[in-house]
Amino acid sequence: MQGTEIAKISALEILDSRGAPTIFCKTTLTCGAEGAASVPAGASRGKNEAYEKRDGGSRYGGRGVDDICRRMERELFKNINGADAANQKMLDGILLRADGFANKSNFGANALLAVSLSCARAAAAAYSMPLYRYLGGIYGTSMPVPMMNVLNGGAHAANNIDIQEFMLVPSGALSYREGVRMCAEVYSKLRSSLKKSGLSTGVGDEGGFAPDLSSDEDAVKYLCEAISDAGYEGKVKIALDVAASEWFCDGKYVLPKKAQEFSANDIIEKFSLWTEKYPIISIEDPLAEEDFDAWKKITAVLGKRISLVGDDLFVTDAHRIDVGADEGYANAVLIKPNQTGTLSETFAAIRSAKKAGYKTIISHRSGDTPDDFIADLAAACCADFIKSGAPARGERIAKYNRLLEIEKEINSSCFAEL
Ligand code: PGA
Ligand code: ZN
Repeated sequence: MQGTEIAKISALEILDSRGAPTIFCKTTLTCGAEGAASVPAGASRGKNEAYEKRDGGSRYGGRGVDDICRRMERELFKNINGADAANQKMLDGILLRADGFANKSNFGANALLAVSLSCARAAAAAYSMPLYRYLGGIYGTSMPVPMMNVLNGGAHAANNIDIQEFMLVPSGALSYREGVRMCAEVYSKLRSSLKKSGLSTGVGDEGGFAPDLSSDEDAVKYLCEAISDAGYEGKVKIALDVAASEWFCDGKYVLPKKAQEFSANDIIEKFSLWTEKYPIISIEDPLAEEDFDAWKKITAVLGKRISLVGDDLFVTDAHRIDVGADEGYANAVLIKPNQTGTLSETFAAIRSAKKAGYKTIISHRSGDTPDDFIADLAAACCADFIKSGAPARGERIAKYNRLLEIEKEINSSCFAEL
């Protein structure tokens, strides 16, 4: 279509949900259509994620992005001026060549992603299409199941819990909307039960409660109790994100908050036991990103019963997912666009996951903004799940609420099968 050529980009340093600076980018096309996007940031980042560029210096403790924004408007824009925003693959190719480094360390994956996503939004606007329809066409009609992180630990909370995320999965819900309600009701019961026990109901980075507990297993017990109090036993299951790369040190797993040491075999045994005792249907990063043999082992032991999700393990990289599928580790993939840096590479990772028969979970980051791009992405690619924190805090519910809107629009009756 004529008019979808890029005419201008405007980049701005804004704040994310942790009060850290991040990039907002607005793209204007020759037809006048505009699209904007902002990028999130992780706290427990995988070692192999694409490079997140910061200005350094004294502003914001070195984490400013103002210089990068200026470079985007001048240098990066020169490369994409006049390029067709509706040809995402070509555009992303230009961005990658303009950066010139495999890990995107010239402009930074954060800069490239802000442009890549804002161009997709601008192209969708030029075609007068909702984003999910532009991205997914008539294929994008199934809603993801929410994975709501209601109890926070690890790097996301200042409590004594080492496992990073304890999530609710409404596997018995008949629609997305019903799933959201079930999770919100359980979240409310969890608040009451923590309060009754005299525990803190203050929240962590992703909106989940962050109390001190006598053990990590206690957190699972609190979730089970809240599920039962809400009347959803059997209908709402549990997912964990261990984020075990954070524990890995010299071939051992050392829990940072408890100073206890475990072997990979201890961890596999412990989670095997938990999956027998509790309704756990998914565990993300149960082992470290480079502990491939242990990943193979846990996949052989638990892979038929539950989802084993690679986050730090795969870092939204199509090649890493292909290798995982060949070698036989994990059976599900977390998809975070900012781990790779362009929308086309994100789609490539989703394609690799689907080809391998791996479940797909589209995910936010712990430092996020009200940008709801991932909600449209999840509907567009018929993802199995969306993970966007608790049903609390504006930047978290922005994604869940956007999907409520999408569900109403497409009047979808097909809820992704678990
Ligand atoms: P992060 O954590 O955004 O802090 O990296 C999220 C996750 O590990 O899934
Ligand atoms: Zn994770």
